[in-house]
Amino acid sequence: MTVTPDVRQRGTPQVDFINVNRLLSDEERETRDKVRAFVDEKVVPTAAEYWDKAQFPFDLLLELGATRIMGGSFEKEYGCAGWSDVAYGLAIAELARGSGSLATFLHVQSGLAMAAIHALGSEEQKQQWLPPMAKCEKVGCFGLTEPDAGSDPGSMATTAVVSDGGYVINGEKRWIGNGSMCDVAVIWARTEDDNRIGCFLVESDNPGYHAEVLPRKGSQRAVWQSHIAMEDCHIPEDARLPEAKGLGSTLSVLTHSRYGVAWDGLGQALDCYETALAYAKEREQFGQPIASFQLVQQKLVEMINEISLAQLLSIHMGRLKDSDDLDPATVSMFKMNNVAKARKVAALARDVLGGNGILLDYRVMEHMADLEGVYTYEGTNDVNTLIVGQAITGIKAFAPAPPENPEPEKGGKAERAEEKAE
Ligand SMILES: Cc1cc2nc3c(=O)[nH]c(=O)nc-3n(C[C@H](O)[C@H](O)[C@H](O)COP(=O)(O)OP(=O)(O)OC[C@H]3O[C@@H](n4cnc5c(N)ncnc54)[C@H](O)[C@@H]3O)c2cc1C
Repeated sequence: MTVTPDVRQRGTPQVDFINVNRLLSDEERETRDKVRAFVDEKVVPTAAEYWDKAQFPFDLLLELGATRIMGGSFEKEYGCAGWSDVAYGLAIAELARGSGSLATFLHVQSGLAMAAIHALGSEEQKQQWLPPMAKCEKVGCFGLTEPDAGSDPGSMATTAVVSDGGYVINGEKRWIGNGSMCDVAVIWARTEDDNRIGCFLVESDNPGYHAEVLPRKGSQRAVWQSHIAMEDCHIPEDARLPEAKGLGSTLSVLTHSRYGVAWDGLGQALDCYETALAYAKEREQFGQPIASFQLVQQKLVEMINEISLAQLLSIHMGRLKDSDDLDPATVSMFKMNNVAKARKVAALARDVLGGNGILLDYRVMEHMADLEGVYTYEGTNDVNTLIVGQAITGIKAFAPAPPENPEPEKGGKAERAEEKAE
């Protein structure tokens, strides 16, 4: 019997095997369910087509903003919803369930660009940018990565030089989500005046700002990343974010964004599981639903097990964030865990769907591909592992330690041995 791609019914409650629902407030459940209904009604029906065509769903942008998910946990005075961090996370998981690409748009708009302005900007900058960005009337991007500075952003080459009462920015950024369609670019650059890394708002109509979409991606196809070139971008002095004082300032922003990305992993895993479960109950082989075979059940059980643990971890991390008690290293572990587990769940679901598992219409393959991007951005799995490793051992293992005696001592053992050999 052929199982059609709409096997996974929409309009159902979120999977909840271990009753995590009881850990949520009424408001959090309501927020999750509203975003879930929006995603089922508006995002899911067209998501696979946008992904296939590598097009961004511009027609959904304002409606997405109207859900209040952008900057969802920021204060109402900035036009944001003022949700708890748990509610914000639950909403992200729902969005990612419907489209990994739209969730990535959110991580850039809300998790990075708005978060940088919120954490590091002046009151005027916050009032100017956050309300329209919350509604998606304005779009932001976040330029940290460069062609030669990925996991090691401290080696960035982009410069900001003081000039005419402002700054001139020169340099290149790569992999920048929304870079080609943004109103404002939040750009990290090495400053000449204090030789530190600072953060600047460069509006995209600046004549020196050029962005080109990276073509032919096999992951995150319905959202665009760009290569940005900035050639003598003159910006006023008040376009510098005053609280960005060195590379360490990126940490508060990345911690916020990584938190959201971890919930994204959970959301994509949920969709894969729901699809696999529904498919296994309908698909018949050897005269019975494949869900009746022990090996298939084992795969489904492995999925729900990982998902249930990730749900518990996610809510716990959200509660810590709500009480301002979230250690950045634990967020690294949170991102690592949820995304790695989501990759595992997606691969198992793909297997349960047999050949249909690789057809885009069934959406599991799209999640599998999208999770590859998520595995790499917001700190690769390796980099987040090293952050956790440093936190538990107290030893930094990002770069090999320099050899203790790089040059053999003149007249020392090594030199004497060489003389002997001659
Ligand atoms: C879909 C997508 C969207 C993105 N969006 C943005 C964005 O909006 N803004 C932005 O600024 N950036 C963005 N990025 C860039 C992203 O942050 C970088 O890709 C990431 O930091 C890794 O950098 P890299 O790709 O240069 O890989 P590299 O740093 O070159 O790493 C290559 C490999 O080496 C490993 N590695 C590196 N250093 C170490 C080490 N010390 N020890 C062990 N292993 C190591 C890595 O884990 C990885 O496996 C995005 C990337 C993707 C894929």
